[in-house]
Amino acid sequence: MSTATITHRYGPYGGQYVPETLMANLIELEEAFVAAVEDKAFLAEHHDALSHFVGRPTPLYHAQRLSEAWGGQVYLKREDLTHTGAHKINNAVGQALIAKRMGKRRIVAETGAGQHGVATAAACARLGLDCIVYMGALDCERQQPNVQRMKLFGAKVAACEAGTRNLKIAINEAIRDWVANPRETYYLLGSAVGPAPYPAIVRHFQSIIGSEAREQYQTHFPKKLPDAVIACVGGGSNAIGIFAGFLEDTKVKLYGVEAGGDGKEGHTSCTLADGRPGVLHGSFSYLLQNNDGQITGTHSIAPGLDYPGVGPEHSALKDSGRVKYEIVHDDEALTAFSELSRLEGILPALESSHALAFAKRLLKKSPGQKLIVNLSGRGDKDMPTLIARGLV
Ligand SMILES: *Cc1c(COP(=O)(O)O)cnc(C)c1O
Repeated sequence: MSTATITHRYGPYGGQYVPETLMANLIELEEAFVAAVEDKAFLAEHHDALSHFVGRPTPLYHAQRLSEAWGGQVYLKREDLTHTGAHKINNAVGQALIAKRMGKRRIVAETGAGQHGVATAAACARLGLDCIVYMGALDCERQQPNVQRMKLFGAKVAACEAGTRNLKIAINEAIRDWVANPRETYYLLGSAVGPAPYPAIVRHFQSIIGSEAREQYQTHFPKKLPDAVIACVGGGSNAIGIFAGFLEDTKVKLYGVEAGGDGKEGHTSCTLADGRPGVLHGSFSYLLQNNDGQITGTHSIAPGLDYPGVGPEHSALKDSGRVKYEIVHDDEALTAFSELSRLEGILPALESSHALAFAKRLLKKSPGQKLIVNLSGRGDKDMPTLIARGLV
């Protein structure tokens, strides 16, 4: 694995908008991270965990029947096949090893749909670390099976009753806990968001998706590259992870896909399309906010995309034009979900279905292209939504 670069600013975006009491923690974290990724023993331990616990490398799968149906060549990066079922485990395992190395025995994390909570609880169980997961009370009700999985891994799930009772509140509570217990606590953030150095750390641990995908593509097509790479964007960690493998290859088009919800005003999660820059959760980035700077409500059928912010590097990539950010609505994502399920025998997560839906749209416009779609997770967790929508 390459040496980590710790970026604090992506153009004007990023930074460390935190209470002064947390600055010592951020500095301590950055120093520990840099030391870890330069230490051969750490790299060996990390590599072992990725191979034997996470299940890497994940395949790059040629979806043959889907390709025929959509009129191009679709390759799926199969993060759905990782342990616990989504790319989140890459970051959780990496950061849990950093925490252990720092001598922190108490891990706090936030979770929306519960995927990051489950991944963190699993990574902590494996290392014998205490784990407290903050989760909005509404999300706890909507995502019971994930709450139960976390508890089975020995984690404590703290339901947050304040305000919107969702992810935004859970992050507030996790940060509050960290501020109150800075010495013994490690805050294990789940996406490429938050104050520096988190966006760079999360990118580092997710960039294995892109480096594997690039190498695997070139075993199919020596020295060639795909026409485009597509990933869904919530906070932006799976997208930056796969883009990292292709950012320098300017001929490869990169598309980040945001959730358009049901398309009604105030019912979307298109932070980059509809938002304006502002400060949330320690970082300056695009945000969904009203004229007074208050964060507005979001919606998506995919709980992992239902977040009013986005990682600062994506804000810079939008402004530079290197990545195009597109919108897919709930219905389109559900159609793509059904098509992949029936044509390939793979149930994608509803989040990943947004990326798939955009691939279909792209091939309709310009057929014959070779695409890599990041299948960020599996859809088993979405069963209740799929039943409610009449798909079964
Ligand atoms: C959490 C999640 C996402 C969105 O998070 P990013 O940080 O934007 O990657 C996407 N897909 C799945 C399956 C998730 O669990």
